[in-house]
Amino acid sequence: MKTVNNYKRPVIKKSLEHYTLFGIGAGPANLSLASLLHPKTAISNLFVEQKKSFTWHDDQLIDGATLQVSLFKDLVTLSDPTNPFSFLAYLHEKGRIYHFLNAQFDEVPRREFRNYMAWAAKKNPNVTFAERVLEVEFDTVFRIRTDRREITADNISVGVGTQPWVPEFARCMPAQDHFHISQYMLRNDSLAGKRVAIVGGGQSGAEVFLDLISKPHASKPAQVNWISRRRNYFPIDNSTFTNDFYMPCYSNYSSALPSAVREQTTSAHLLTSDGISESTLKAIYQKLYYCRFVDEDTRHFGLFPNRCVTGVVPNPGRGWKLETEHNDLTHIRESINADVVIWATGFKPAPKQFLDGIAHRFKRENAEYLVDEDFAVQWDGPADRAVFVQNGVRGQRGLPDVNLSLNAWRAQRIVGRLTGQYAAPQGCSFIDWTRQQPFLQPAGQVERKARALKAALK
Ligand SMILES: Cc1cc2nc3c(=O)[nH]c(=O)nc-3n(C[C@H](O)[C@H](O)[C@H](O)COP(=O)(O)OP(=O)(O)OC[C@H]3O[C@@H](n4cnc5c(N)ncnc54)[C@H](O)[C@@H]3O)c2cc1C
Repeated sequence: MKTVNNYKRPVIKKSLEHYTLFGIGAGPANLSLASLLHPKTAISNLFVEQKKSFTWHDDQLIDGATLQVSLFKDLVTLSDPTNPFSFLAYLHEKGRIYHFLNAQFDEVPRREFRNYMAWAAKKNPNVTFAERVLEVEFDTVFRIRTDRREITADNISVGVGTQPWVPEFARCMPAQDHFHISQYMLRNDSLAGKRVAIVGGGQSGAEVFLDLISKPHASKPAQVNWISRRRNYFPIDNSTFTNDFYMPCYSNYSSALPSAVREQTTSAHLLTSDGISESTLKAIYQKLYYCRFVDEDTRHFGLFPNRCVTGVVPNPGRGWKLETEHNDLTHIRESINADVVIWATGFKPAPKQFLDGIAHRFKRENAEYLVDEDFAVQWDGPADRAVFVQNGVRGQRGLPDVNLSLNAWRAQRIVGRLTGQYAAPQGCSFIDWTRQQPFLQPAGQVERKARALKAALK
């Protein structure tokens, strides 16, 4: 195994390697766990990632895109500010901490944050690339088969993230006429002179709309139409009390609510996570002003919020017709013509077929595996063997589960389960989410304290 300053990949041995924790996937979620575990040498761990090297949605990394959360929401800081894998440690090691400060970024460039995470992945000997997990079985330990070897582990952490989602009806289109936004950087050069429709009114759709209308004349599309189901192009709510939804105490409170109530609150709070950055909205508005009134650009840039795309049909002789239903005037059917459609329709949890051999032993809540307060799946296996799930329980833990806000906190809970040492909790929100006793203490806290005490007495 390498040391931090003398990097060497772990040697793959013929005999079975065994780890206390084995991580599947090395996106921000498992990378946070790998970073927090790095100083804890008693907990042997290995994280494998199928990609050849670290990437973070690179194929939709448009120049100028920024992070939608604070830089403190890095891999470690909110749960262990002394950890060597923080964003500030990265800036410092690279010798650019003063430059970063003086640059006075209102929002961190997304590429810089991606480079930071790539640095953290490369620096950590327990993270390895170009290896895919194919199968997990369990007897007294987890037996993991990858495309390169077999490994055993006491616990596993599943952090396989999400995969692009497009509506079922789009399947009738040939690949050259449509693509998911996650491929934008690979496809955007071929859009000059075409009629392009973007479907989806979140941050990704906004970034692509801005990029297309900002292209130089020679590479600009002939038309760009942007369709959103939302009533308008709404900003992300990044205000003070709203951010208290992204604190551990709210996560504990909301996870104890009945599932139907959780579903309602998640949908009511959607714009606290999935809205568009104010800076992007302003840039779009100013660009539209410039195109129309200053440049007198005759090309058409259409804004169609408040419509749901219900289907796509060939437009005889010329491209495609997107059929839409108006949210207010439901009897009205409109259609929008396009040569190329870009689906900014989001992501869904990635499939986890490699768990098929053990998944029948897991408890479920709707489509999700049911997790406890340490994100361990509830199952019929031994209590000291756990399958942790990261970014896979939005229904149980709400919107923070799928973004970076509570990444370090969630990973710290897993570290707590493995070591018996839980981080000192931060103070609760100024808001009293409830005064009802059962909600004041997160479920399992008493058991956790007991476990920690037992570990300390060993
Ligand atoms: C464009 C974009 C921008 C975003 N920006 C922000 C933001 O500014 N702020 C914010 O809070 N959130 C943001 N998010 C949301 C969230 O932070 C990201 O989606 C984040 O990448 C989730 O991390 P993850 O580790 O759970 O999943 P992923 O990043 O999807 O990582 C999962 C990894 O698992 C690997 N994997 C899958 N199956 C296997 C297997 N069988 N074997 C080995 N490896 C496997 C995959 O290759 C992948 O690398 C953004 C999302 C997108 C799409």
